[in-house]
Amino acid sequence: MKIAKTIGSVRKLVRQARSKGKSVGLVPTMGALHQGHISLIEKATKNTSFVVVSIFVNPAQFGPKEDFKKYPRPLRNDLKLCENAGADVVFAPSAREIYPQENLTWVNVEKLSQPLCGRSRPGHFRGVATVCAKLFNIVQPDAAFFGQKDAQQAALIRRMAADLNFPLKIIICPTVRQPDGLALSSRNQYLSPQEKKDAVCLYKSLRKCRQMVVLGENSSKKIIAQMRNILSAPASAKIEYVEIVDVKTLQPLTKIDRSALVAIAVRIGSTRLIDNILIDVPK
Ligand code: AMP
Repeated sequence: MKIAKTIGSVRKLVRQARSKGKSVGLVPTMGALHQGHISLIEKATKNTSFVVVSIFVNPAQFGPKEDFKKYPRPLRNDLKLCENAGADVVFAPSAREIYPQENLTWVNVEKLSQPLCGRSRPGHFRGVATVCAKLFNIVQPDAAFFGQKDAQQAALIRRMAADLNFPLKIIICPTVRQPDGLALSSRNQYLSPQEKKDAVCLYKSLRKCRQMVVLGENSSKKIIAQMRNILSAPASAKIEYVEIVDVKTLQPLTKIDRSALVAIAVRIGSTRLIDNILIDVPK
């Protein structure tokens, strides 16, 4: 496995792979890798023959009061995990490499960046979309792999790639969870042992939602009320949002009468966690 720190070096490695007829997969990450990221890399190795994993803690997607500085950066361990998962290249640029001068060109995916997490994280999705557009232009992959865990990000990147005619496939992979249901996240390491137990309420509320739908309930209001009960039980939990929205438009649904995204954001102590499930409603 090769490590590229510059745009020039990653482009050269991709060029060489292409000249051997290889197809290129890209897995964008911010590092502090866990089994969720690994599942993306493994999927990429199955779907493409040359896999680039980017590790870049993107300053442009953090708000001034967010955890940019303290975000974990265990690069050495991440490199080992990438190699074991079958990556061909890790692209780990500096912030200067990606933003050599004041960035004046931003990608704004209108409508999709405003609801859900967009409300409490202004500018976040502009930073995400812009860095992904840069990575797509730098690596020029045939396919890029993202997690369903970040459902709004997945919807937004899919739309950006379509709107801006990026010639690549966007592949969304299922959320990897702990045995107790907690979705894996680099931010879980901020949680105390008690908070880790409390955080299980996120998945518990999503399971309750699924169960209610299976039993025939389709009123979003009734389902959200039950979910809120579960989410407000632990003393450490503070709900940011619980929403049932259309998968594509991210606009609220009063009734689950088509495929829906059930998305939640909850603070456990000072750590902000998100999770979601998809509910498929056959037409
Ligand atoms: P991050 O490093 O948090 O920016 O995440 C990089 C990619 O990994 C994103 O596409 C995430 O959606 C994905 N990801 C994060 N956590 C999980 C998980 N538990 N299961 C699957 N994919 C994940």
